[in-house]
Amino acid sequence: MSETATAPVADREIETARITHWIGGRLVPGESGRSGPVYNPATGVETGRVDFATREEVDRAVAAAREAFPAWRAVSLSKRTELFFRIRELVHTHREDIARILTAEHGKVLSDAMGEVARGLEVVEFACGMPTLLKGGFSEQASTGIDVYSIRQPLGVVAGITPFNFPAMVPMWMWAPALACGNAFVLKPSEKDPSASLFVAELLQEAGVPDGVFNVVQGDKVAVDAVLEHPDIAAVSFVGSTPIARYVYETGTKHGKRVQALGGAKNHMIVLPDADIDMAADAAVSAAYGSAGERCMAISQVVAVGDVADPLIAAIRERLPKIKVGNGLEPDAEMGPLITREHRDKVAAYLDRGRDEGATVVADGRELDLVGDGFFLGVSLLDNVTPEMDVYRDEIFGPVLGVTRVGTYDEAVRLVNENPYGNGTAIFTRDGGVARQFQFEAQAGMVGVNVPIPVPVAYYSFGGWKASLFGDSHIYGPEGINFYTRGKVVTSRWPDPATSKVDLGFPQTR
Ligand code: NAD
Repeated sequence: MSETATAPVADREIETARITHWIGGRLVPGESGRSGPVYNPATGVETGRVDFATREEVDRAVAAAREAFPAWRAVSLSKRTELFFRIRELVHTHREDIARILTAEHGKVLSDAMGEVARGLEVVEFACGMPTLLKGGFSEQASTGIDVYSIRQPLGVVAGITPFNFPAMVPMWMWAPALACGNAFVLKPSEKDPSASLFVAELLQEAGVPDGVFNVVQGDKVAVDAVLEHPDIAAVSFVGSTPIARYVYETGTKHGKRVQALGGAKNHMIVLPDADIDMAADAAVSAAYGSAGERCMAISQVVAVGDVADPLIAAIRERLPKIKVGNGLEPDAEMGPLITREHRDKVAAYLDRGRDEGATVVADGRELDLVGDGFFLGVSLLDNVTPEMDVYRDEIFGPVLGVTRVGTYDEAVRLVNENPYGNGTAIFTRDGGVARQFQFEAQAGMVGVNVPIPVPVAYYSFGGWKASLFGDSHIYGPEGINFYTRGKVVTSRWPDPATSKVDLGFPQTR
């Protein structure tokens, strides 16, 4: 690993002021002359500029991947597994280095960043089981003297396009299963926090991943379009906002690719009158304001059923002043800044909009008292939010929690099911029967029962329904393995040459 990758973050910020591509196993400065700013959101300081790739640079990355693919797919499962164990060890050893890069560019607090790396690492660990995951089926004597077996093979060059809010974990959701299945990979990270991907690229190289098997192209729509239209890319995984997910799905499939495109969310947490109020309030506060609400699985909407609303809101409100907002490197900070100044201002503007629409502003994050130019916003709570309001309909993606009051469980479920998004949802209750009914009828891909952020463990797959997912395949877990491979069925006969004869009839199976 180079000096750059192991240097402390403060030095890295100076050294990596120019953030480049990673093609064919080395850093490649961009030649487009176009670049974008990368900030430390806690200070507001521009700490780097990231190169934006041209189509030609994307071509170069795809060519490197294409060249590396035949040898990579031929590496035996045992050797590839051994290499993946080394990847796992290196990522684990450098988990805090990665987390510090995340905090420096995304702003999330260090403990949260460590959690992100840990959840991504679980997918790497899952991928270490590739010999089992890629096992096919075998039917001996399917017909007389004929055996039939199924195998799964890699697709070739596959690409990932990732959002700003999980700059390490979401790429791991993609490259870990993709490489384990024998594909070569081209990653287009978010241009807002692009450095973690370069650090990971160096770790993969150190682990022994051959040059060209993993590539990073930095950039914006130009790079994304080049990926979506490239004839040598077989599949694209996307995670980001719903409008771009829809665009990526439509454009990628039009160009003949397999596409899984995960979009935005508006996750509802239903609290029934029998719920434990303190537990529900702790969960709502943690899930709404963790990572400053910039999580696709954040709870952004509580649905309070019956007379639970007043005590629940009081319990949530009581917890808010205790949340410590600050630079993510401060040991006691619980919530960091938002990703950019523009995004912070956009989120803050929802508070006036909510008030104008008739919601009650119980807590206003703009009253946060913090010195400096960081992109901070305190926690906000809106009561009496109703479904026709923008603050209900929009994915605000910030530390703003809305509460909608309804009379019955049925009304609450209707809200969940009528919402255009269907990523996650949760119910808080002591009644197992109602919880089971909710699991049965909730129209969302991930359901929590007394669990506010039900992100599936790595051996299940992650993904939403409705406008939260375009395509048929959820990400990582068994569906991830299917996504990055295609099936082949072999029908095989090793006849005794003495029995061979011409037969023009359609093959019979008996
Ligand atoms: P985004 O859609 O703005 O960007 C995602 C990626 O798309 C980035 O790499 C970006 O460079 C690229 N992109 C942006 N605009 C583009 C355009 N016009 N054409 C082509 N490419 C474009 O999303 P974001 O702001 O980085 O991330 C936040 C969003 O991601 C939220 O909506 C959040 O809910 C969603 N998200 C969803 C999941 C999930 O699993 N469903 C997980 C994390 C984040």
